Amino acid sequence: MNHLNKDQQNLDNILTDVKEQGMAYLNQIHERATASSGGVELINSLAAEGVGAEGALKQFNERFEPIIVASSGPRYWGFVTGGTTPAAIAGDWLTTIYDQNTQSAKGNGDISALIELETIQLLLSLFNLPHQFFGGFVTGATLSNFTCLAVARQWIGKQEGKDFAREGITDKVNVLSATPHSSSVKSLAMLGLGSNNIIPVKVMQGNREALDIADLELKIQALNGAPFILISSAGTVNTVDFDDFEAINRLKQKYNFWWHIDAAFGGFAACSPKYSHLVQGWENADSITVDCHKWLNVPYESAVFLVKEAHQLLQVETFQNSNAAYLGNPMENFSYLNFLPENSRRLKALPAWFTLTSYGKQGYQEIVESNVEMALLFSGFINNHPAFELLAPVRLNTVCFTLTDESHVPEFLNKLNATGKVFMTPTFYNGKKGIRAAFVNWRTSVADVNLATAAMLEILTEL
Ligand SMILES: *Cc1c(COP(=O)(O)O)cnc(C)c1O
Repeated sequence: MNHLNKDQQNLDNILTDVKEQGMAYLNQIHERATASSGGVELINSLAAEGVGAEGALKQFNERFEPIIVASSGPRYWGFVTGGTTPAAIAGDWLTTIYDQNTQSAKGNGDISALIELETIQLLLSLFNLPHQFFGGFVTGATLSNFTCLAVARQWIGKQEGKDFAREGITDKVNVLSATPHSSSVKSLAMLGLGSNNIIPVKVMQGNREALDIADLELKIQALNGAPFILISSAGTVNTVDFDDFEAINRLKQKYNFWWHIDAAFGGFAACSPKYSHLVQGWENADSITVDCHKWLNVPYESAVFLVKEAHQLLQVETFQNSNAAYLGNPMENFSYLNFLPENSRRLKALPAWFTLTSYGKQGYQEIVESNVEMALLFSGFINNHPAFELLAPVRLNTVCFTLTDESHVPEFLNKLNATGKVFMTPTFYNGKKGIRAAFVNWRTSVADVNLATAAMLEILTEL
């Protein structure tokens, strides 16, 4: 009997082994190292005969499992790395088991898009956003920014009576932004808009990354009425600064532009009455990017784009599968593949649906408020210790700091990360080498912050 048939008969045992191994990992995630020092020698040829799933699991455990770090654990504070709630794991497993190719919501074959459409409604409700947004899942905020900016590009063309999707880009597209995330800049490159073409808007005075509204208006006036795209921020990565959305609303009454908000993780401020003022007015944007594998705590890869329904035709013009005539009118015969980059897509919404349904608004309010509390606790430590210095005030969930002797930052961070007790990422802010610690994992507790600060104190003695 070949391995495939044997595995089919043995699937129960295989999945039991995987479940037990998964539980062992999750139960010890607090102890597992956040950095891996070793490497693995890679195999470059495939054996004629396989080893079966149990054999593969054994090989994985011998070769790769030991190098896997606790990036889904409570002290992985580098980048903006979320964890996985229990319900999200359950939903993710079922996504694999059912293995849908999520496109349509009725009719021929698979209709799993219904689950995706419902999940978008749940997210809009979580964020107190109006239901006039159409949304869908993509792999991450990078692809969400790409999707939103692609529709914005089509909108710009329409202002001049052109169809950029069909004709190509025939005019320079004006893009204004103060502190765009690198993925938006990358999206401009991918979209043929040119990553060098951003017209920079000044940031506000006083250690801010938010755009200066007066300067924004000057830059708009210099365009002499030409339409443009504004990329604004709901949470910059270094200091989690938010643009003033109420002020942008007022400009939107006066000028003709596409307003995009990158709210990859900052959008979750809406989950708590303590912080929702930060996103006040964001509902008037044309498009919004939100990551799910960060603060929603679902496994990679998961993010949503939210584009105003009023722009649906532009979205379909941008993404319609030109050789999919059998789909008919994309509005009547809805299929996700006419609204976003990918054609084949897994049911990414299911882990999000599980976790939203399991924990509700209250659950996410608690996660957000607890993470912010941990950021404040950590920043208190930074503030009170003479060897450290905050580079910016803590506005939400990220602490951006440096060493009083800035030249020690690289050595300090390398040594700290090498302990495997906590992981943070380097940055450069306000002309200084710095370190960022971002709190978006539901597991992070006071004990984790204490463990990390103890490790930091120890490294100080070694410098
Ligand atoms: C993380 C992040 C992105 C990129 O998201 P990916 O999910 O890594 O593609 C974009 N914008 C902001 C503000 C982010 O924090």
